[in-house]
Parts: sequence; C-alpha cells; structure tokens
Amino acid sequence: MTAFWTEADFDDHELVQLVRDRASGLTAIIALHSTHLGPGAGGTRFWHYPEGNDALRDALRLSRGMSYKNAMAGLPMGGGKAVILAPQDKAKSPELLAAFGDAVNALNGRYVTAEDVGISEADMVAVARRTPYVSGLPVKGADAAGGDPGPFTAMGIFHGIKAAVRHKLGKDSVKGIHVAIQGTGSVGGGVAKLLAQDGAKLTLSDIHQDRARELAARLGAESVAPDAIMGINCDVFSPNALGAILDDEGIARLEAPIVAGGANNQLARAGHGQKLADRGILYAPDYVINAGGIISVTLEYLARQKGEPCEINEVRKRLAQIPGRLEEIWQQADATGVSPDAVADRMAQTLIGR
Ligand code: NAD
Repeated sequence: MTAFWTEADFDDHELVQLVRDRASGLTAIIALHSTHLGPGAGGTRFWHYPEGNDALRDALRLSRGMSYKNAMAGLPMGGGKAVILAPQDKAKSPELLAAFGDAVNALNGRYVTAEDVGISEADMVAVARRTPYVSGLPVKGADAAGGDPGPFTAMGIFHGIKAAVRHKLGKDSVKGIHVAIQGTGSVGGGVAKLLAQDGAKLTLSDIHQDRARELAARLGAESVAPDAIMGINCDVFSPNALGAILDDEGIARLEAPIVAGGANNQLARAGHGQKLADRGILYAPDYVINAGGIISVTLEYLARQKGEPCEINEVRKRLAQIPGRLEEIWQQADATGVSPDAVADRMAQTLIGR
C-alpha cells in the first residue's frame, strides 16, 4: 500500500484529517497546507467522488492553492480546504452539516471554512450554528463587505485585465479592447458588465447558451458557441468557467496576446505556463487575479471576530492592489525569462516560508 504522504500532491501539509460521523453519514477530509501566515482558510467542497483517493487529492491540491492565494493576496491567513464526500444523489442533511461544523470547531480556529462547489450560503449558515470559524456569511447593507464573493472576484479580475492591457498592449484603457469571455456565471458575467461599462468590445460564451446570449444582448456584445470562444481573434481571452483549459490543444488554439480570467487551476500542468510564454502570450496567474472573493470574505471574517462591521472601502482598497502584484510578477518574468505562473509560485512559497 502506498502511504498518502508519498502522494504526488502531498506537499508537507501540516494536517490532513479524515472526519467520520456514523449517525449523520458524514465523511470529510480537512487539509491544512500551511498556517505560517495565519489560520488555514479555504472553502468546503461537497462533491461525489467515485474514488476516495480523488477526494484526498482535491483536498491536498486545493489547500496548497489556498496557501498561495492567501499569501499573494496579502491576507493574514494560511491555506486550508475541506471536502465532504457526498453520496451519489448528493443528498445533504442538516445533521451532516452540523457534524461538519463540529469537526471544524474542534480545530479551534486553525481552519476557517467558507462556501465552495456544492455548498450554498444557507449551508454555511447551518455550519456556523456549530462553529464561529466560518466566513462568507450573508451580510446586511450595501456598505458591508462579505457574503457572495462573486462580485468581488469579478472586480479584482477587471482590475487585473486592465493591468494586463497596460503591460502587454501599452494602453491605459480597455475602451475598444476586444475581450472573449468563457463562462458568464457569477464571475464571468460580473467581469463582462464591468468591461462593458468601460467601453470594451465583448464576445461571450457559456455552455448555457441562453445565458451568454441574454447577457450579450443586454451589453451590446456578441455571443458564440462554447467550442468557438478559445479561438476568437481578440486582445484578451478571459476564462471564467472551467479549470485545466490551458492544455497543449487549448494553448495552440488561442488567438489572443493575453489570458486573464478567474477560473481556478487554468493550467492543465505546470509546464503549460511556459508554453503560453513561448507563444508570447501574457498570462495572469489565476490565484493572483481571482483573489477578490477571498479578500472580501476574509476581511468580513476578521472584522466579525473583532465584533466590527467590515467596511467595503477596505475591500476595494485591497482589490486595487491586485494589478500591482501582477505587474511585479510580469516584470520579474520579463527580467528572468521564467514564466509568470512559476514566478508567482516562487513568490508565494517564499511568503509562506517554504
Ligand atoms: P458559476 O457557476 O456562477 O459560473 C460558471 C459558468 O460557466 C456557468 O454559467 C456555466 O454554465 C459556465 N460553463 C461551464 N462550463 C463551461 C464551458 N465549457 N464553456 C463555457 N461556459 C461554461 O461559477 P463562478 O462562481 O462564476 O466561478 C467561475 C470560475 O471562477 C470557477 O472556476 C471558480 O472556481 C472560479 N472562482 C470563482 C470565485 C467566486 O468568487 N465565485 C472565486 C475564485 C475563483
């Protein structure tokens, strides 16, 4: 039998915990990658995994990703992630969420959870009945940060696209810049609206084609079939749907000098960052440009711990720092010939003391 710490994705994680609760049927894995900068923060995924090892791999990879993302966002948080192994019908009972909340609570704040795929805001409210170590809870009032992270993620990506356009194309505005957006959900739809307000030319696509068509009609944009979006001749390709789209084939199809979008884990493998650079395509490392949501939910969490409201202006200030971080990465990449994804990884590792 192979020990799990010899798994390719094991990276000296500080804690990998299997949680079982017979009464509610809960099986979960909580992984803390690094708490060097603070408690491990990252969402809970509720997913049906045909193989238990797939769940372990997800917990290991996603928690490391959160260490990097939180460090590069300048947050006083480490990296953690939980996966709940859902039954095939993805049924979720209040007892199961309560048992999961107890497991998070037992870690005494070393892990702070939030929503991820398969977990709604209402689910997190249920978890929060058992533990205070929860972020991404609903907030009241237009001036309060926190809650749904999508709009904040979109705002950070919008800033990041503008920075990429400045760096690669030497333009200070996105007016007339053609952006092809893959995925028009919470993040991609938000990015599209912000870009449209600034006069960008947009081509949208979504596997729910009506969604892309309706948004395009509202924004005066075009929409194309899902399989056409990566080959659009444009200034920026913005992936906001699936991960692992930047593989050999995907990179070969690109007709854009910039890739900047919010999807997690866009590079199919680490070497694909270099392939983008070899083609002269500027890449905005995903976990740097898409940190807006985690910035918002973390500031909400830290404020709540102190019994204070979280000011939206503080979140906006932090979001506006994303372009500077990207520019630093690109300048180092230009100076050293190392691809931007590898530069970002190295910076993140240094920040977490690895
Ligand atoms: P969402 O579910 O609201 O939207 C995703 C959209 O992508 C949906 O409309 C879906 O139909 C579409 N889609 C799926 N497959 C597609 C394909 N092959 N081609 C075109 N469209 C496709 O999700 P979201 O919250 O907008 O997240 C989008 C991406 O951003 C994900 O990769 C997510 O992990 C990442 N992300 C989200 C946040 C956040 O705050 N929501 C933060 C960081 C990263």
